[in-house]
Amino acid sequence: MWRASDTKTGNYLLDTLPPESLERLQPHLEPVALILKARVQRVEHVCFPVSGLISVIATMADGATIETGAIAREGMYSVCAILSDDTPSETAMVQLPGQALQVKARLLRKAMQEDAALQRLLLRYTQATLSTVAQLAACNRLHLLDQRCARWLLACHDRADADTFPMTHELLAMMLGVRRAGITFVAQTFQEKGLIAYSHGTMTVLDRWGLEAAVCECYRVIRDEFSRIFAVSPFNRTSLRT
Ligand SMILES: [Zn+2]
Repeated sequence: MWRASDTKTGNYLLDTLPPESLERLQPHLEPVALILKARVQRVEHVCFPVSGLISVIATMADGATIETGAIAREGMYSVCAILSDDTPSETAMVQLPGQALQVKARLLRKAMQEDAALQRLLLRYTQATLSTVAQLAACNRLHLLDQRCARWLLACHDRADADTFPMTHELLAMMLGVRRAGITFVAQTFQEKGLIAYSHGTMTVLDRWGLEAAVCECYRVIRDEFSRIFAVSPFNRTSLRT
């Protein structure tokens, strides 16, 4: 199980592997930059972030978008690439810049067949990812925009290494599948309550506990789903009080 003192790569999935499993993969891991707003097209590679945040996005025929998953140092992109070499229908985009380690998908699939510990871990991660997609589908239909907005801001705050991170209303609207005017209204309400500050594409979380009071249960459900994979929570902030 992962412990802070054991971190070798900075990606919690990789660092949860038994040392011999990680040693076999390590020569094949290549560093790659996650550039803000860049599309992540990993058909041939699987990417293990060590910092930053990748959003998985579903796009409709009319161009409307919504986020269906978020991947940071607790995960990998994409689970599709470890299941088959088919091109996934989803797209992905970098929301917070950072660094990742990538490995050829073909090589990782082969390694999973030869290494039971690696296979168990990545299948467990796949299960958590499927649960998250189901939770987000329910959240996007059943919960209010201000609750969903708080969920998204907390998820970003967990993965950012600072209280301030790049963010625009346009991007937030794109992730939550709503009009920008709706996001502007919610952001204004949050600012008036002193929860956040927003200026020129930069978001600052001022009152994390206030955001936690505003969020729906989905934030906790998703966070706990991934935390169960590891010995300790992979999220930076764990102040959820309720
Ligand atoms: Zn929800």
